[in-house]
Amino acid sequence: MTLRDLPSIDQLLQTETAAHLIARFGRPLTLDALRQILDDVRARFKLLALSRVEGDPTIALPLPDLILAQADSTLTAWTKPTLLPVINATGVILHTNLGRAPLSDAAIHAMDIVSRGYSNLEFDLETGKRGSRLIHAESLLQKLTGAEAALVVNNCASAVLLTLSALANKKRVVIARSQLVEIGGGFRVPDVMKQSGAKLVEIGTTNKIRLSDYQSALEESAALVMRAHRSNFKIVGFTEEPGLKDIVTAAHQADVPVVDDLGSGALYDTTKYGFTHEPTVQESMQAGADIILFSGDKLLGGPQAGIIIGKKTLLDKIKKHPLARAVRADKACLAGLSATLLHYLKDEAEREVPVVRMMSLTLKQVKGRVEAWRDELGQGDVVQGQSTVGGGSLPDESIPTFLLELQVKSAEKFLRALRKNNPPIIARTENDKVLLDPRTVLPEQEGALLVGLKNNL
Ligand SMILES: *Cc1c(COP(=O)(O)O)cnc(C)c1O
Repeated sequence: MTLRDLPSIDQLLQTETAAHLIARFGRPLTLDALRQILDDVRARFKLLALSRVEGDPTIALPLPDLILAQADSTLTAWTKPTLLPVINATGVILHTNLGRAPLSDAAIHAMDIVSRGYSNLEFDLETGKRGSRLIHAESLLQKLTGAEAALVVNNCASAVLLTLSALANKKRVVIARSQLVEIGGGFRVPDVMKQSGAKLVEIGTTNKIRLSDYQSALEESAALVMRAHRSNFKIVGFTEEPGLKDIVTAAHQADVPVVDDLGSGALYDTTKYGFTHEPTVQESMQAGADIILFSGDKLLGGPQAGIIIGKKTLLDKIKKHPLARAVRADKACLAGLSATLLHYLKDEAEREVPVVRMMSLTLKQVKGRVEAWRDELGQGDVVQGQSTVGGGSLPDESIPTFLLELQVKSAEKFLRALRKNNPPIIARTENDKVLLDPRTVLPEQEGALLVGLKNNL
């Protein structure tokens, strides 16, 4: 055989299989794949021909069918999405690596309808003139928190950066040393402060900060006092820290506003579900914070967003800063966030917001689901364990749960096989046993989970 026996692109294109490929992947991409495969075949043929000795059997060239089959797998690999839904059986409710909060049906619907068509994103239906995207979600946030004004941006990290840039560029910002935190993914409060142009004034020590530390730092003029929530760690032992209310009083005596970066910023009391207390947005408002920052996709259970609420005069400055345009929220986010906030306003979050629903599942409900899994699989043990919140919320906090414990030959190999499942299943291991927590598995994923487990057991 010589290279001249290799089918040409034109010949391949005339086949029915090629027509199917073009229908599925489009003509340009299909041509690309075929060219690449033929180039590879030619290169390999030439290499083999060079090392071929007289009298050796001739080198076989692939038949058209094989080339087209190869094109199919190449095209499938090229077009496979990298971002895929997974089943979270880890029990970590706000798993940052798994995309944090799953959304409510209403939030998904709201995002879907504004994404499909046009919307009044920046159009005033009353006057027929240009409107402002900043008003969406603002009135809901005002109603829920009592704040004078609100702004939604890309995430809480950008909310911090924007707030500091707008209110404290080249000016002093007073913050306790124990609050110079690093949140997951390399978000470091001191670095963000530097980036914003604010001058960091660290006060107190790692474990102790007194009101007098604030008062002496405020003897010199400052733009802001900032408090950052220690979302992912705790300081225990010989510690002291004044309450937000006292900090606010000291700051206001010096005529300096207080920014409270809550991070998670729950709108509800997490102790209700057996977790320790996470500072709520309402408490921060009551303590008199002038600006409060929190995430949309942590304990709130909405889409990725950063929420800035507080005094109108300060919010006006923040809204006018050029960075506000760079970190603004898009229409889908605003729609999804508004729908999520509405669940809180209508007092139906426990029923509708998946994150809250997962936290509020009773032990009896969880146990019932694990038992059903075990019965369906015909193996495994129902054992007690812990579910955690994660996602930079409630450090070390967990609530009791029930787990399905599976005994397998190699837990590591089993987990790897589960990750290759379609959809991938993410579980955890302990003492070489595989543990699956129903708390974070959405009810509609249960069927797929059980099929995936059965196929790999
Ligand atoms: C999580 C967190 C942030 C960052 O929030 P993102 O929405 O992830 O950008 C900022 N500050 C605190 C205190 C946090 O806990």
